[in-house]
Amino acid sequence: MLSIQNQIVLITGASSGIGAACAKVFANAGAKLILAARRLERLQELADEVSKNFTTDIHLVQLDVRDRTAVESAISTLPPSWSEIDILINNAGLSRGLDKLHEGDFQDWEEMIDTNIKGLLYLTRYVVPGMVKRDRGHVVNIGSIAGHQTYPSGNVYCGTKAAVRAISEGLKQDLLGTPIRVSSVDPGMVETEFSDVRFHGDSDRANKVYQGVKPLTPDDVADVVFFCVTRPSHVNINEVVLMPVDQA
Ligand code: NDP
Repeated sequence: MLSIQNQIVLITGASSGIGAACAKVFANAGAKLILAARRLERLQELADEVSKNFTTDIHLVQLDVRDRTAVESAISTLPPSWSEIDILINNAGLSRGLDKLHEGDFQDWEEMIDTNIKGLLYLTRYVVPGMVKRDRGHVVNIGSIAGHQTYPSGNVYCGTKAAVRAISEGLKQDLLGTPIRVSSVDPGMVETEFSDVRFHGDSDRANKVYQGVKPLTPDDVADVVFFCVTRPSHVNINEVVLMPVDQA
């Protein structure tokens, strides 16, 4: 198993769910964490909790991944001791609505496309050149089963996650000949704030999504991310699909 002790790990969308779970798993293994999201107070709460339980260095970045200029500035102004990112976890993402395409909401579409696709592209574009220069690094993109199966009214969200899948494969191809690794971790249903966000806080609708299914936990996904990055350096896990046992 490859050690990630003292490796610098940037996690987007670290203020809840899968991103927060990744922060804990990586802190436990001695990584140094850059935690990014829009809700700084939630990042601070997580940092306090992680610091109580693990000895690790944490740097917080308030960031909206949809804002290209903000992403560029966040990466280029990292303090020197934080600037050499070893592992990028492109996790920030969301779904909105569950509407038929011909009845869809334009703002919802833009939010999903701008966050799930463009945000991931911006982070990748500004972080990977440093990895290439240093001849080391690993990018983990959090995709979804939605990138493999399109379900009714999932149209645009599924489209964004199919794009993430293609972009992960494209990045892998573009980095051939370098030691930099690229993995896509694609979960089925995970119980997080994702469902509440999707239905704009309508928790009745959100809870119905999990009926008949015991969803994955954020820790289940974080364990798989950790597995991918700790394989020996000649091994690239291209893609992992992990599903609740009872999800079709
Ligand atoms: P959560 O809602 O719990 O977390 C989403 C995270 O993304 C939050 O930390 C949020 O932080 C961040 N985020 C959203 N928009 C932005 C933005 N514009 N800029 C920066 N950060 C942003 O959901 P999950 O943990 O479940 O989701 C994480 C990833 O997993 C997403 O990419 C999602 O598509 C994917 N996924 C989730 C599944 C599920 O069933 N839950 C299934 C398959 C994949 P903040 O609001 O503070 O900015």
